[in-house]
Amino acid sequence: MLNVPLLARHASSSSARAGSSCDIVVVGGGLVGNTIAASIGLNSLLRDKKVVVVDSAKSKPTLRSNPSTYSNRVSAVSPASVQLFKDLGVWSRLEKYRVKRVNKLHVIESSSHAEITFDRPGSAEVAHIVENDAIVGVLADVLSTLPNVTHRIASKVQSCQLPETTSELASVTLEDGETLSAQLVIGADGANSMVRESTAICTTGWSYSQSAVVATLRVSADELNDTAWQRFSSHGPIALLPLSSDLSSLVWTTSPEEATRLCALNKDAFVDELNEALFTSSHQDQSVNQALFTVNSILSFLRSPIRPSSIPPHILSLETDNRASFPLGLSHSQSYVAPRVALLGDAAHRIHPLAGQGVNMGWRDVGILTQILEKTHKSGADIGSVSSLRQYDSVAQRYNVPTMVAIDWLNRLYSTQSTPIVLARSLGLSTFNSILPLKDLLVHSLSQQPKL
Ligand SMILES: Cc1cc2nc3c(=O)[nH]c(=O)nc-3n(C[C@H](O)[C@H](O)[C@H](O)COP(=O)(O)OP(=O)(O)OC[C@H]3O[C@@H](n4cnc5c(N)ncnc54)[C@H](O)[C@@H]3O)c2cc1C
Repeated sequence: MLNVPLLARHASSSSARAGSSCDIVVVGGGLVGNTIAASIGLNSLLRDKKVVVVDSAKSKPTLRSNPSTYSNRVSAVSPASVQLFKDLGVWSRLEKYRVKRVNKLHVIESSSHAEITFDRPGSAEVAHIVENDAIVGVLADVLSTLPNVTHRIASKVQSCQLPETTSELASVTLEDGETLSAQLVIGADGANSMVRESTAICTTGWSYSQSAVVATLRVSADELNDTAWQRFSSHGPIALLPLSSDLSSLVWTTSPEEATRLCALNKDAFVDELNEALFTSSHQDQSVNQALFTVNSILSFLRSPIRPSSIPPHILSLETDNRASFPLGLSHSQSYVAPRVALLGDAAHRIHPLAGQGVNMGWRDVGILTQILEKTHKSGADIGSVSSLRQYDSVAQRYNVPTMVAIDWLNRLYSTQSTPIVLARSLGLSTFNSILPLKDLLVHSLSQQPKL
């Protein structure tokens, strides 16, 4: 029987090279991989663990405090994720780059006047919009200061050799032929995870036959531009995420064919079509609006007066032509763990971006896995053993599965234009909007990191 902890400790005293060992290999240094590496590397109890992060990205994103253009890939970072970054001491570094605070989220739809507003009591924010490159780059900078973490960029894992039991170490082989063995392989290598594929873990999933068109927009918003907007249309939701007082990031969900067409339009035609999609009333169902008016009148009698309908900012132009489109799908690993393997982020679960929860779920995985690794290490057990990793699996799934189901249903609910369904969802949305404690409960639940 191998004495794995001893073997790994001995081998980890030298930096990783051909045929070398470490304690933990993180495959994928994206939004989630770099965060778990920082979370382990900075943790006082796990500091003696040697971590190697292997990322196939060609280079580390360049960090400039005032670059001339915004990236088209941004994330709405939830308050719970901000707290994680604050705990890691990373948030103050991120704030030096461009972080836009969002105080409100307005959700409206094209088939009726139903709407819902999310905000948080006091001066708390709903989310922060941050460029993905800034998050990955700041985390990479943090990793470079940690003596126990080796961060390898432009290095691709070609294959994983995963044992069926923990009597052996796991190993990964890089494209250049080098092999790294470890007590634990963390798969943070995205939706097409090679680590997941190397296990016997099954996934459930489907394509939405939808694509998201992203771009950076110049908008005519109020002074602060601190409200995020989402308008549901028959093709899918259109989201405007504030970046500055006059710029917003677009996530326009539509059919793959439409996405290709929209990306090929000239800039002015694209902006015209976007304004049309955001403001048109041609799909409004008047019978639903009449019913909504009656219900809103009753609700306003019970609570507060009816407010005039909210209107998103007008789109002035494409800031730079950074339009791109991404296919959307759902996938979920039936288990997030196997002997010597833990899957995190999109490698474990991929969802529709309509609620801006995908990577936030990944960061929640980070918080949970770190706590489990701490606990296992304190007890002197093997950090790659399935019995301890199973706790990560069950806690993470308990949080992730309901979120995934809710988001999938929301997408389905808003994909139909049949009057009874539009009526039911519009009345439901309006009623939910007036029940403040219920709304506060939902917002509160999204702003908490689970503590075990
Ligand atoms: C249009 C759009 C908008 C979105 N907006 C939001 C939002 O506002 N909020 C939110 O929470 N989520 C959002 N998401 C979801 C979010 O982008 C993903 O959940 C997130 O990128 C997942 O991060 P990850 O690190 O798990 O995977 P990835 O971002 O896919 O990173 C995987 C990393 O692994 C590396 N890699 C892959 N294979 C290998 C290998 N074999 N060897 C070494 N390295 C490898 C890659 O180079 C990459 O760096 C959005 C998604 C889309 C498509």
